[in-house]
Amino acid sequence: MDSTDGMMAAFQRQDIDLRTMGLIGGMSWESTATYYRLMNQEVRTRLGPLRSAPLLIHSVDFGPIAEAQHDGRWDDAGALLADSARRLHAAGADAIVLCTNTMHKLADAITEATPLPFLHIAAPVGQAAQQRGYRKLGLLATAFTMEQAFLKDKLMQDHGLQVQIPDAPTRAEVHRVIYDELCQGIARESSRDFYQRAIARLQQEGCEAIVLGCTEISLLIQQQHSPLPLLDTTALHAQAAVEFALA
Ligand code: GLU
Repeated sequence: MDSTDGMMAAFQRQDIDLRTMGLIGGMSWESTATYYRLMNQEVRTRLGPLRSAPLLIHSVDFGPIAEAQHDGRWDDAGALLADSARRLHAAGADAIVLCTNTMHKLADAITEATPLPFLHIAAPVGQAAQQRGYRKLGLLATAFTMEQAFLKDKLMQDHGLQVQIPDAPTRAEVHRVIYDELCQGIARESSRDFYQRAIARLQQEGCEAIVLGCTEISLLIQQQHSPLPLLDTTALHAQAAVEFALA
């Protein structure tokens, strides 16, 4: 036996295999990088310092997709995401993780494209809210996610939660900051102040926790910036993906 063999065995779990998760990323890549880091850190914590997450990432060019969103050409965006899912399936992924809340509007286009399990982002968020006993959540996200039903309905119908969104001018600024700043890797103090005021108003309206319902918001707002507990969709989704990979 080589003198290094025992050393490796001593500090990592060799007996647990991981499934390969297929990430549809790039929306924006700033948050996909967070998924990549969080999933690998979680595997290291659970299985040992040299263990890491087997991942396939199909990272799209967000420019044309963001344009399609804002033009209302959702079918075009859906076709691109279905293509992503098919590529991940062909490459050997065992499940699909869509690294954005907004594009869960197109979850059906993705689930219809392959037979792979699809880990919906709302599930771990709803479960965490229920486990922690919250009933009324404030939601900060893109205008698409705040104003349309695709995410809110999951939280309300599947988990019995109430979801409150900010007023229209606040929603517009929260949305602008996501695309003009956070998706470009910019975190401004003035924007953090604005988000903090939005959180304070949601607290006054009776919310017990805040859903960071856009995968970039944690680049700006962390727990120390909020008087209410945060449910960060990125962290919860990444953790659920690792749990699935280990199951
Ligand atoms: N990553 C964001 C989200 O979680 C916004 C970018 C997008 O439109 O996909 O909604």
